[in-house]
Amino acid sequence: MASPSSPAEIASKTLKTLVSRKLAPTPENYARIYAEVSGKPPEPSEGGGRQPQEAAAPARPVPAWSGLIRDLLRQLEAHHKGITLSRKKDGLDTVLSKFSANPDVLYEKLHGLLRSWSSAGGTVPATPPAAESGAANREPELGKMPPVAAAPEGAAPSAVPAAVPAAAAPASAAPLAHEITGHLKELLAQSLESGMTLQPELAEEVRDLARQVRAVNDQGQLMELAKKLRHFWVKLELRGGDKAKIQEGLLRLLRLLVENVGELVADDKWLRGQIVVLQEIIARPLDKRSITDAERNLRDALIKQSTLKKSLADAKATLKSLMTSFIDRMGELTESTGEYHAKMEAYNQKIGQADNLTELGHILEDIMQDTRVIQASALRSHEELVEARRQADEAEHRIRQLEQELEQVSELVREDQLTGTLNRRGLDEMLERETARSDRSQESLSVALIDIDNFKLLNDTLGHQAGDRALMHVSEVIREALRPSDSVARYGGEEFLVVLPGSGAGEATDIIGRLQRLLTKKLFEYNGERLVITFSAGVASRAAGEPVEDVISRADQAMYQAKDAGKNRVVKAD
Ligand code: GH3
Ligand code: MG
Ligand code: MG
Repeated sequence: MASPSSPAEIASKTLKTLVSRKLAPTPENYARIYAEVSGKPPEPSEGGGRQPQEAAAPARPVPAWSGLIRDLLRQLEAHHKGITLSRKKDGLDTVLSKFSANPDVLYEKLHGLLRSWSSAGGTVPATPPAAESGAANREPELGKMPPVAAAPEGAAPSAVPAAVPAAAAPASAAPLAHEITGHLKELLAQSLESGMTLQPELAEEVRDLARQVRAVNDQGQLMELAKKLRHFWVKLELRGGDKAKIQEGLLRLLRLLVENVGELVADDKWLRGQIVVLQEIIARPLDKRSITDAERNLRDALIKQSTLKKSLADAKATLKSLMTSFIDRMGELTESTGEYHAKMEAYNQKIGQADNLTELGHILEDIMQDTRVIQASALRSHEELVEARRQADEAEHRIRQLEQELEQVSELVREDQLTGTLNRRGLDEMLERETARSDRSQESLSVALIDIDNFKLLNDTLGHQAGDRALMHVSEVIREALRPSDSVARYGGEEFLVVLPGSGAGEATDIIGRLQRLLTKKLFEYNGERLVITFSAGVASRAAGEPVEDVISRADQAMYQAKDAGKNRVVKAD
């Protein structure tokens, strides 16, 4: 059909083009292609797809096949008085087997059949077949018919026949009608297949239905297929309903996640896990069950999460407490470092405000860093302390050394620091020397033990310092009175021992007597006061070979005799 001239040919070519271009059989597409094929501009359609009526009468509407089939399907299951379904099917079988070779006759016979059902009391269309070009207006009932249900998105829910011009040349009607029926079948199959994109999970079923549509040959097959298509549409509708519910479910899930995201951030690993779960759910074919399962799982997980969160909060509290005590401990260890204390105080506050583990982790890192610094500083301090301690030890050792040296030096001292007379060591050395000399020379050696009278009273009256000054005064007078060969030593507190080499007991007693008088002449002056100091003395002369200690002891006894005799006197030992 290179240049179609009759409306039927144009219609056939139009349908063929729709099929070859895989266009949805919408009224708009049909009108556009029809205009393209016929070379005439498309006329504005009225009444939702009612076709141009320029087609010449008697126009038996070839494309009305679709409307006829649709009516047959509808009326087949409709209730008609006295006509059972099996009787209707038998009637259909008879007509199809007898007249299928001639589509025109078939068309008339099928329509007659419909009328016969209708006359029995039913819902057969009142309009004649020629008016079936307006079938699209039979919504909503017809809108649910299978071909429409499978139409691509955006397609008006009109029946395919609505797009067919109600014009065909009767002469060539039979082959043309057959051809058009083929096109219609193909369009139905294609419509079904294009619907697969909407419901990928039904692809297998759709493919099967499309195959059956293409293969349909007789009325029986057509009836069977119509039933299947009806079921399929119901399923599609349910699926559509599911889809809305799935969307709702997804939104609910999303809301659940968003609402809880604040709670979940405490453990972002968990959140990531949940997102992966949701991604997996979305990647799979969605149905109500998977969404409900996902929602339930998420809610369960949230409950678990809240339990975990409590544990986590406990763990954080423990960690905080550990960190705080750690800081306190470090603070105690480094009390001297004020800066560290201030930092630790700031960390304490930060820990108090921290509400997730990551933040606590960072704080811990900072603390460790500062602690390492303070440890280094503490180490330095420790090193300094060790150095100081070493220096102190060294100093202590030096001091001990000096003390020993001082001791050694003092041991060398032979004089009493206060009076300048010999100390006990000097006395001992002097006695040893004089004894040896006396022994060698056979000369006399006498000792006199002098004890100041009432010295305690002087101390008590004038003070200890006055007592010291009095001791110095007495020692000076003693030295003044003695001969150069004589020696004097401080023997005790207010006691002096005078050693008189070459003098016997008498001469020694005289000398000490003179000293006694001299002392009474030389008054002790202190703070403007002049005091007479007296002493009592015992004199003893050493017998040959007599131990000097014994001599001293006898002198001591003589001294006590002087005391006993009233003091301020000299007693010669026996
Ligand atoms: P008596 O006449 O019996 O000797 O009486 P006394 O007070 O001298 O004897 P006593 O032994 O009771 O007192 C001695 C006092 O000498 C006691 C002590 O305080 C004092 N004395 C001892 N050594 C020192 C000294 O170095 N300086 C001073 N200021 N007093 C001393
Ligand atoms: Mg005394
Ligand atoms: Mg005395």
